Order: sequence, then C-alpha cells, then structure tokens
Amino acid sequence: KNGAVIVGAGHAGVQAAASLREEGFNGSVTLIGDENELPYHKPPLSKAFMKDADAKPQMLRAEAFYTNGHIDLMLGSSVEQIDLSGRRLDLSGDRHIAFDRVILATGSRPRTLALPGSDLAGVLSLRSVADARAIREASAGCEDVVVLGGGFIGLEIAATLALGGRSVVVVEAQDRLLARAAAPVIAAHVRSRLEASGVRLLTNTTIERLEGQSGHVVAAVTSSGERLPAGLVLIGVGVVPNSELAEAAGIAVANGIRVDPQMRSSQPEILAIGDNANYRHWLSGADVRLESVQNATDQARLAARTITGQEDAYRSVPWFWSDIGDMKLQMVGLAAGVDRSVVVGEAAENRFSVFHYLGDRLICIESVNRPADHMLGRKMLAAGFSPNPATLASDDLKAQFA
Ligand code: FAD
Repeated sequence: KNGAVIVGAGHAGVQAAASLREEGFNGSVTLIGDENELPYHKPPLSKAFMKDADAKPQMLRAEAFYTNGHIDLMLGSSVEQIDLSGRRLDLSGDRHIAFDRVILATGSRPRTLALPGSDLAGVLSLRSVADARAIREASAGCEDVVVLGGGFIGLEIAATLALGGRSVVVVEAQDRLLARAAAPVIAAHVRSRLEASGVRLLTNTTIERLEGQSGHVVAAVTSSGERLPAGLVLIGVGVVPNSELAEAAGIAVANGIRVDPQMRSSQPEILAIGDNANYRHWLSGADVRLESVQNATDQARLAARTITGQEDAYRSVPWFWSDIGDMKLQMVGLAAGVDRSVVVGEAAENRFSVFHYLGDRLICIESVNRPADHMLGRKMLAAGFSPNPATLASDDLKAQFA
C-alpha cells in the first residue's frame, strides 16, 4: 500500500495529515506516533494542565477526524529505520510500511544534562502528557521545587507552582532569563514580576550535583555552593531535534533535518517539518530551527502543498506565545540583529510592547498583555510594512497601517 506516511503524530504531523486531504491528496495517508494518547496540544501541558489536578489533555482533533479523513492513525508505534532504496519504513514490532513520500514530523526532546544525581527519582523534564502527569503528581507531594533553566517552560511552571504555595527556585546559567528567546527588557520585567510572586531566581548559576535519599532527590547544590532543598527538580534546558532517523538514512542534518523552502530534505521524497526541521529563514537569512506551534502547523500545510505538486516557498511570519503567571507574552517576527527597539506602553502596568527595528525595517514585536499589538504585528510583518518608530507611541498604529 503506497502513499504518504507521516512519522510523528504531534502538532506538525496531525496538521500534515489534515492538509494532505484538504489539498486533495487521494493516496493513503498513514500517521504513525510513538505515544499512546490520541494526539494532543502541547502548550497547555506547562500552563492549564499544571494549574488543575483534574485537567485532561486537549485533543488536536476528535477521533472522528481520523476515520472520516481516511487517515490511518497508528499510535504506540515507533519508526525505527528509513529504508530509502526499498522505499519502506521499518517499525517497532517488526512491521514495515511502503511509501511514496515520507513526512518526518518527529519533533524534539528535552536536552538532558550529565549531572551527578540526574537519574534520581523526582528529577523530571516536560515534553509529553505522561511527563506532565508525573510533574503534577510530584509537585503535589512536595514543598520545594528547583527549576533548572530560565526558559519559557521552566518559568511557566515556576509561576504556577509558586502560586500554588510551593517554594520555587529557578537556576539559570546565563546572566538573564529567556536569553535565547526574548529581549532583555522583557526578561527583566518577567524577572521582577516572578520575584514579586515569590519565585527565587538565580542567574549566572548552575547546578553542580543533585543529592538523594533512598533514591529520591532531596537537594540541588549550586555552583556557588548553596544547597537548595528540592523534592522535585525540573530540568528545562532546551530541546534537541529528533533527527537520528534521517541521519541514519544518510539525509543531511545540521541542528535538525536540513530542508529547502518546500520542506524537502536532501532526499526529495522525504520531507521534514516542525521542531526537527532546520531551514534558511526568509526573514532573517539565517539557518534556524524554530520550536513553535505556528512553525509546525504552517510547515505542515506547506509540505502537503509540496506533495500535491505545488511549489510554494515557506514565507510564514513566525509567532509564539507563553503564559507566565499574569503575563501573556507574545512574539512575532525574528529579533536577529536588532539595532533599535522602541517600548510602547507601561511595564509598571504589566502591559507593554517592544518594537524591534533593523535599520528602518520592523523585524519583531514582543508584547506583554498587549494582544492587539501582536495581532497587528502579524499583519504588518506579513505585508512588509514598517511603521515609523518615532510615532509608535503617539499614533494609532492601526491607522498608520491602513
Ligand atoms: P511534537 O508536537 O513534539 O510531535 C512529535 C511527535 O513525534 C511526538 O509525539 C513524538 O513522540 C513523535 N515521534 C518522535 N519520533 C518518532 C518515531 N521515530 N516514531 C514515531 N513517533 C515519533 N509552542 C508555542 O508556540 N507556544 C507555547 O506556548 C508552547 N508551549 C509549550 C509547552 C510545552 C510543555 C512544550 C513541550 C512545548 C511547547 N511549545 C509551545 C512548543 C510546541 O509544542 C512545539 O513546537 C510543537 O509541538 C512542535 O510540533 P512537532 O509536531 O514538530 O513536534
């Protein structure tokens, strides 16, 4: 049975299956995922799911979507090898599937640290709903939490657990939070609000080792020698792309699977999308691997168009959000090589946006509780429109754009 086989049933894979059908692909569509759950939304796992002990995972699509769309959903199945010359995939349990086209939507996994004590019980990281359940359970039964890494996921959980009465310390190796992902002014704002809500933040600090008792973590010892009590240690130090499958098949890999603007890998019948895809970005000209729902779903739509014979190039405007305590952070664009930033609104009111320019060109907007700036920013960046930076604060932005 030949057709399109999608490996990975996360945000990218499920959208690719939907888009293949929407684009009129009438071959077989097989969607293979190694998790046992019906495919679900990942962002709530560090947000709503952590707040409410009874929260259930939110399905990406209802079960009927797969049957109605004639999408053969194979859960609990792992693809172990791509046999390029034989045009088949080797699956766990000695099963095989023939293909015409493959979409690799295998996502990424949490980076692990070679840290003494990291194999103790109570040392966890978050990617899947199974991980989220384990974190929710562990946090319910402990007072002290140490979060390793001041990135979005770690800070979202830190804020929630502090609100729930836990004593939370975040340990970050860089000199500020969100070093990879947000402007210094945003990071400083996040820091001060988190501190006001009781989270302790240690920057320029790493963890040297974790201490255990009877196999369970009890403390984390920092690079400055402080012993932080911890019944739960959450490791949130970024992800690595799941690109081994491609690499083993001889497909070009460099921090993710290299793809062209149509999402084709170095082996044109194998496409890659989502967290595992590395590509030259049309906005910045840099090779990037983006980790966002927007990137995963837009690349999935494009991959389906490539397979159905269209030659569009990827030109979506990147955007992202994160909810940290009472801050809704939204980013649109890419803040590479910024040379001017203009702040609009009031950090003191927990409502402001930062407009980033490269020369006269608007390249990125980061907002805290200003969703209208974000939504307008998506349209402006898609249209290549740059408002005059001198008038951002005084003028009605919408009127300028129109
Ligand atoms: P995934 O959704 O990870 O899907 C990949 C799937 O492939 C997984 O189910 C994996 O198990 C499976 N798989 C891997 N290898 C194989 C194999 N060999 N065989 C079969 N199956 C395989 N993004 C935002 O934009 N906003 C947010 O607020 C946000 N919050 C997040 C919070 C959390 C806790 C996490 C984990 C992520 C968050 N993200 C957020 C990022 C976003 O979820 C990812 O960018 C998105 O899931 C990427 O989609 P994907 O399909 O590439 O990967």
